[in-house]
Formats: sequence, structure tokens, C-alpha cells
Amino acid sequence: MSDSMTFDPAQLRERHEAVVARIEAACGRAGRSPSEVTLVAVTKTWPAELAIAAYQAGMRDFGENRPEELAWKRPAVEAVVGAQNGITWHMIGTLQSRKTDETADFADVFHALDRQKIAGRLSRRLTENGRQLPTFIEVNVSGEASKSGLDLSRWREDATQVAALRTMIQDINRLPGLPLLGLMTMAPWDAEPDVIRAVFRSTRELSSRLADEVAGFPSQLSMGMTDDFEIAIEEGATHVRVGRALFGERAR
Ligand SMILES: *Cc1c(COP(=O)(O)O)cnc(C)c1O
Repeated sequence: MSDSMTFDPAQLRERHEAVVARIEAACGRAGRSPSEVTLVAVTKTWPAELAIAAYQAGMRDFGENRPEELAWKRPAVEAVVGAQNGITWHMIGTLQSRKTDETADFADVFHALDRQKIAGRLSRRLTENGRQLPTFIEVNVSGEASKSGLDLSRWREDATQVAALRTMIQDINRLPGLPLLGLMTMAPWDAEPDVIRAVFRSTRELSSRLADEVAGFPSQLSMGMTDDFEIAIEEGATHVRVGRALFGERAR
């Protein structure tokens, strides 16, 4: 549970170092460089004071999943540490179309684009504001019904699923303001490690297939959370989104 210790920069620095050490060990096992992996510290549900303490402990990439929360938290953090702070704010949650303006205004990276309509609305607002929002497309390769993301659950057998994704990539590439970074995925809840690994591996293989088929398709991969970020790194993740391992259990 949350307690005052959670907001102590010294304790947060220790937690951060422990997660970074686990990232480095996973990179070592996979023969990868830790510099390829961005740790997104997921501050969702926590007050701005927690993000400020995390900043003082050295964290610079923060993840939020509700646009309205990002829209108050970012200014609250900037009010204390200044606007030129080196922080990158990541919107990691799926969007409803009425939340696109807040995301376009306050996020620096978007991890969960899953619909053309959302892309169009974001692009329009970004163009008005002269902003860019580098973006991941969220794919669902596990087929779990509760999961968001474009359906790629049978992408190896079903050519229409890959075609739908290719079309979405080409459409987004024509929109100003939304440079693509790659694919994002979520592992199924409560699955065995080898099932989770298979989901991450399938996402990486889908990404390589797209790189072969779509000129210039970038191959970054946002995958892995507290319970599975090491597996994700072994399978090629470039962005891991970690909350509880850094900040403890969320109150909601
Ligand atoms: C909450 C959340 C996370 C972080 O989850 P933890 O289990 O706390 O690491 C990562 N990604 C998304 C999309 C989330 O909503």
C-alpha cells in the first residue's frame, strides 16, 4: 500500500536502481544493450508529488493512462520543476475519441493507437498546435477478448489481419503529426511465462514482417509491465511500462 515512504526520493532511487539492474540483466541474457530500452515509469493514479519525487530520484519518462489525469499532472509537475525539465510524458492507455484533444496537447509519446478515427482526430489537433506525437500502434496478438488493440490474433494464418494493419500504417503515415515508432502490445493477464513470451515473440515477428513489407516501418516495441518486463526485453522490447515495481501497489 501507499505510505509516505513512497514519496521519499531516496527510497525511489533504490527502487529505480533495482528495476534498472533487472533491465540490464535481461539485456545481458539477450545480448542487447541497455541503451536500447526506455523505462517508462507509470505514475498513473499517483499524485503529482509522487512524479516529482520520482523526478528527483532521476526518472525522466512517465506513463499515464487517462488523458484527464495527464492534463492536470503534467502542469502540476512543471509548476514545481519547471517546463524545461527533460521529462517525456507517455500516454499508454487506449483513447476514447472525446479524449484526443487532451492527449494531443499534453502527451509526448502515444503507445495505444488502435483506430483510424482516433488518428485523424489527434492529427487535426496536433496540426493546429504545431506539435508532434510519436506513436505506437497497439496490436492484440493474444486474442484475449478483454484486450484492446487491433486484432492480430491470427496474423500468421489470416492475411486480412495483416492487410488491415498495413492499411492503418499507410493511412497514419499520410497524417501530419503522428510519426510511427512501432508496435505496442499487452500480455494476457495471469498467463504462464511461456504464454506471455509467445505473445511478445509473436509481436516482434509481426514487426519484422511489417518492416519487410512496408518501406520505412520502424521497429520499436512497447511491451512489458511489472510482472513481465524481463521476458519482454528478452523478446525485443524497446519500451517497458513499469508502475508497481517502482511505486508499489496503486490505491485504485
Ligand atoms: C498500468 C499500466 C502499466 C503498468 O502496470 P504495472 O503492472 O504497474 O507495471 C503498463 N501499461 C499499461 C497500458 C498500463 O495501463
